[in-house]
Amino acid sequence: MRPFSYARATDLAQAVHLGRQTGQGQTDAPVQLLAGGTTLYDLMKLDVMVPDRLVDLGPLRPKLSSITPSAEGLHLGALAKMAHVAAHPVVQADYPALAQSLQLAASAQLRNMATLGGNVLQRTRCSYFRDPTWAACNKRNPGSGCAALTGFNRNHAVLGTDSSCIAQYPGDWAVALMALEADVSLTGPLGSRRLPFASLHRLAGGQPQFETNLQPGEVITAFFIPASKRAQRSVYVKVRDRTSYEFAIASAAVALEMDGDLVRQIRISLGGMAYRPWRAEGAEAVLTGKPLTEANAEAAGRAALAGAAGHGHNDYKLTLGPQTVVRALMQAKALPPASRKA
Ligand SMILES: Cc1cc2nc3c(=O)[nH]c(=O)nc-3n(C[C@H](O)[C@H](O)[C@H](O)COP(=O)(O)OP(=O)(O)OC[C@H]3O[C@@H](n4cnc5c(N)ncnc54)[C@H](O)[C@@H]3O)c2cc1C
Ligand code: SF4
Repeated sequence: MRPFSYARATDLAQAVHLGRQTGQGQTDAPVQLLAGGTTLYDLMKLDVMVPDRLVDLGPLRPKLSSITPSAEGLHLGALAKMAHVAAHPVVQADYPALAQSLQLAASAQLRNMATLGGNVLQRTRCSYFRDPTWAACNKRNPGSGCAALTGFNRNHAVLGTDSSCIAQYPGDWAVALMALEADVSLTGPLGSRRLPFASLHRLAGGQPQFETNLQPGEVITAFFIPASKRAQRSVYVKVRDRTSYEFAIASAAVALEMDGDLVRQIRISLGGMAYRPWRAEGAEAVLTGKPLTEANAEAAGRAALAGAAGHGHNDYKLTLGPQTVVRALMQAKALPPASRKA
């Protein structure tokens, strides 16, 4: 770890001001915002991130950590802790995929420390990214190549990759946010804006060092998840190498609204398999207006992985991915119908 200076932001305006040299999730940005620290400190200790200054968001917590359900939806402050949100009775009852994705992530200690905003901005677990003794990593060292392409890539993505980077997005909660069509609120030097969560993360596009569409200095302040029948009948399924304290090798979130025996509306998203949190619209189209039979679920699983490409060690995801989607669909089907009217 290298020397750095530390500042505590007393309010949001000061956080934006002090944080204006933060990049768009870039590894080499000279200033980093500090929330729970569970991603940031790790990467600083590994010498992967070497900021000159940390801007601690801790003093903003009283204003930015509320959990506020209403008839329209769920408002979550970006500094709310993962554990608090996962344990909230309204989240569990009306947005179960959200609660499950948080509960299945990391460990109890980490969930007690880590915040929602930090969670969606966590970095890839690609071991070449996390070990600076490997020269070739376009995400850490732009233009240097990608060691994973010809190296060990068992945990890497099969969707949304290009030759500049095949890293997988590692988080769980973002996958549930995609299926529940969340929005994210930001405040930065040019003011505040709200955008669909689906547009927060970028594809690599030859520049994997830019991971998000955050502008320099922008702070994530909140998430909003609209209330709906399908949010109430939602599920998050996570497949991993061991049953706790492990990242997903495949995951799927499903939000389902039935009309009798037919699928009225459905949202499906994937984790552990894609470069960024991934919505599987092709799979949704396969099921809409049809009965949710095992055969139709299998067809949707295949559609969800359409265009996927393995890189050798991760070829197994081409089989595991569709199976994970089928499992999530069957679990959603087995849930009782939503009690909401609309
Ligand atoms: C051993 C281990 C296992 C894990 N397992 C899982 C798992 O199974 N599933 C899973 O989903 N996650 C897992 N995680 C990741 C963990 O969930 C994240 O580290 C955590 O959510 C990050 O939140 P934080 O508040 O600690 O972020 P920090 O480390 O404080 O920040 C992370 C990044 O986000 C930026 N940032 C933070 N808050 C804001 C904000 N409000 N606005 C703008 N930028 C911000 C910071 O500048 C930093 O770059 C694991 C982590 C560890 C260490
Ligand atoms: S997959 Fe991405 S993060 Fe991993 S070595 Fe290649 S460029 Fe770096």
